[in-house]
Parts: sequence; structure tokens; C-alpha cells
Amino acid sequence: MFNALVLEQKEGKTIAAVQQLEFSDLPDEDVLVEITYSSLNYKDGLTVTGTLGLVDSFPMVPGIDLAGVVKESRNDQFQPGDPVILTGWGVGERHWGGFSQYARLKPEWLVKMPQGMDAQKAMAIGTAGLTSMLSVMALEEGGITPDKGTILVTGAAGGVGSIAVSILNHLGYKVAAVTGRESTHDYLRALGADELLSREEMEKPSNPMESPRWAGAIDTVGSTMLARVLAETEYRGVVTTCGLVGGLDIPTTVMPFILRNVRLQGIDSVMCPIEVRTEAWNRLLTDLPESTFGEITNVIGLSEVPKTAHDILAGKVRGRTLVDPN
Ligand code: NDP
Repeated sequence: MFNALVLEQKEGKTIAAVQQLEFSDLPDEDVLVEITYSSLNYKDGLTVTGTLGLVDSFPMVPGIDLAGVVKESRNDQFQPGDPVILTGWGVGERHWGGFSQYARLKPEWLVKMPQGMDAQKAMAIGTAGLTSMLSVMALEEGGITPDKGTILVTGAAGGVGSIAVSILNHLGYKVAAVTGRESTHDYLRALGADELLSREEMEKPSNPMESPRWAGAIDTVGSTMLARVLAETEYRGVVTTCGLVGGLDIPTTVMPFILRNVRLQGIDSVMCPIEVRTEAWNRLLTDLPESTFGEITNVIGLSEVPKTAHDILAGKVRGRTLVDPN
């Protein structure tokens, strides 16, 4: 028997509770992983609280990230004892996930733990860190080098935002950070933010084009904030969009794209090809300073996940939350 957080549907509501499961309850996949750490992302907030109906098959073990050690494998690529990481692929939404002591998983979803990384570090990064790195790589692909100017990061004190601020600072970019919480200013400065802007100022509706301020931007918020970011982006700037904490819409026009040659680059970590993932994980080892790990992480147990899921949706969680299932 082992512990897992299980989602069930009762009278149209999603109920999350820690339950004892048997190994025969797990899905029949080729690799059994003993989980050392998982982590709580904004999407886990949505699944655990039943918001947006992301989960449509119950019971479900949520948790989109996990890191641990292979216990059994019917696949040649993985042997018992191999340390592995999993993020995305619909795990924790459509397939049983990481808020558990064990998971059975498809081998093609697993990334071998890079040399120099461990489960705790990997989950301090998790989907949020992978998404931050993919966003930074997209800025680089768009030719946005540190000499081009300041990079704006929105939702900066959240998981994706915190790691993005730290990576960009480490790579020599000047970073401006948008936060709704003044209490996070010292934290963001410590991660490397050179300039701090209020959420209130940045989410005000804008004209389609405003005075240009940003060489590039990593947006996790969407809606009026993303529209303003696009309006304030310099000629040939690149803006990445990965998140929707402020809303799903983008109230803008074609003007920033056709008059300033601004590029809006979508970022998806869930179905990201394995070669790109591996490159991003390796870059995280070199480009995310060691000191960031201690700075950004909190640790909770399985029973604290339901409350923290509400907190992350309310924008009350700072940095990254590791989930220790053991
Ligand atoms: P977090 O909750 O950790 O961070 C989000 C941050 O956004 C908060 O900490 C807060 O920062 C800010 N925020 C919260 N509510 C609002 C609001 N209503 N308006 C404006 N800002 C707000 O989430 P993650 O970092 O894990 O994820 C961020 C977004 O990115 C989510 O939408 C998530 O679904 C998405 N995402 C997408 C991925 C992909 O593959 N496309 C992968 C990972 C995440 P502050 O207090 O500093 O303002």
C-alpha cells in the first residue's frame, strides 16, 4: 500500500483527499517510478480545485511533475535505480500523476536526470522552470541578446516568473519585473530584477501601440497585461506567452505586429519534443544559479496540497512549491 492524493467527483464537485492505494490500482504502464518529490504548479491548482474542468476522468491522481527513481521497468531504456524526471504529457490531467508515492508511466514521457541534478532540484524547477527556460530560448531564437535592452517578466513572483528573472539576470539581461505584491520586491531584487513595476499599472488597458520600452518580454499573465506588453515592445522585439492567470483573451490589434515587427511566440511545455526538453533541462543546469534553489522553494506534504492549490490560484504562493509525498 502507498499514499496518493486522489481526486473524485461528488455531486459535480471535485474532492481531493489523501488515500491509500494498492500497486494494482496504478495504470498498466511500462515503468514504475518511486517518487521522491513532485511540485505544485498553477495547472495543479486548476486540477485539484476542479477549476476549468481540466480533468474529465475520475478517480485521478493529479500532479503534472515528478522526479524519482525507477523501481521496475519493462522497457530497455530504463533500469531499476535510474533517476528520472517527468513533466507534462497530460500526466496529472489525463494520466495518473505525481502527487503520490508511486506512478506507472510510459517510457517516452521520462527524461533521464541530467548529471549534477537531483530530484529536489529538478522539482524546484519543474514545469515552471522548463517553461521559463523555453521562453528564454525563444527570446534568443528571436535575436534578443542582452545588449538589445530590458526584458519584462510578468507574474514575476510566481513559479515561471521567478525562475525567468533569475535565468535572465544570470545571462546578463537587464530585467524589469511586474508583480502585484509589494511584499515580494526584496525577493525579486535578490533574484536579479533591476526594475519593479506594479501589476495595477501594467494591467491598465492600453492603446494598441504605446512608447516602446521592452526589447522582449516573458508573459505569464495574458489579457490586458499582454496587450500592454505588446504595445510597449520595441521594433523587432519578441514577446513570449505561456500563461493565463489574468485571463484568456488578448485585447489588441495587428498594429504592434505590422508596424513594429513584434513577434508573439507561444510556449508549450506539455507536448514539447524530447530533444528540446533535454536541451532546456541541460541549460537549466548551467544558466540557473545554484543560489536560486534555496531562494525560491517551499516544501509541503500531500495533505497540504488541496489548501495550497487554492492559494496558488489566488496568487498567494511565492516561487516554487515542492511536494514531498513521503
Ligand atoms: P504561479 O501561480 O506560481 O505564478 C503566477 C503569478 O502571476 C502569481 O504568483 C502572481 O505573481 C501573478 N498573478 C496571479 N494572479 C494574477 C492576476 N489575476 N493578474 C495578474 N497577475 C496575477 O503560476 P506558474 O508560474 O506556475 O504559472 C504561470 C502561468 O503559466 C499559469 O497560467 C500557468 O498555467 C502557465 N503555465 C503554462 C505552461 C505552458 O506550458 N504553457 C507551463 C507552466 C505554466 P505576482 O504576485 O508577482 O503578480
